[in-house]
Amino acid sequence: MSDKEKKIIKTIRIDVDKCNGCRACEMICSAFHAAPKYSSNNPARSRIRIIREPLRDLYVPVYAGEYTVAECAGRDKYTIDGKEYDECAFCRASCPSRDEFKEPDSGLPLKCDMCEGEEEPLCVKWCMHDALILEEREEELEEQEELEELEIGLESLADKYGMDEIMDALSRLNNKD
Ligand code: SF4
Ligand code: SF4
Repeated sequence: MSDKEKKIIKTIRIDVDKCNGCRACEMICSAFHAAPKYSSNNPARSRIRIIREPLRDLYVPVYAGEYTVAECAGRDKYTIDGKEYDECAFCRASCPSRDEFKEPDSGLPLKCDMCEGEEEPLCVKWCMHDALILEEREEELEEQEELEELEIGLESLADKYGMDEIMDALSRLNNKD
């Protein structure tokens, strides 16, 4: 039997045909992430946004993904049922080229965290139309991935506190014994 570490991959399957644009997912997401929790709701703070075309009865949920420091050079353009959508309309990135997926007051990037700490993502729970379905699977963690995760962790610590501060903390730990 393999003794490799396992990781759980969570996926939210989006069934666009079932979404009716009610925006309950936006409401609960923004309320859950309000400070203090549930003290307010504002869809602009939601990590899921619904691209709405009510006249065509078309609603597309889009989740907030990674933050990017610079806008990309390649763009996507979608045509659905003959209507052409804006470039970047369905992009998940929090990017300098547009206002989506940014905290409205501070401008800080927003990213879906799968409602960390909750048993089930709240947007999935609140979607009464089964347009959002949670799927989970287990995968073996490759050694390389563990290393990458460690590197990413170190990188973000270095960004936040500075490399000198981290080296000082490490040497204090080493001298503890
Ligand atoms: S709660 Fe479900 S049906 Fe309503 S907008 Fe969100 S994804 Fe669509
Ligand atoms: S999973 Fe949670 S954080 Fe992500 S969009 Fe849904 S409600 Fe928001």
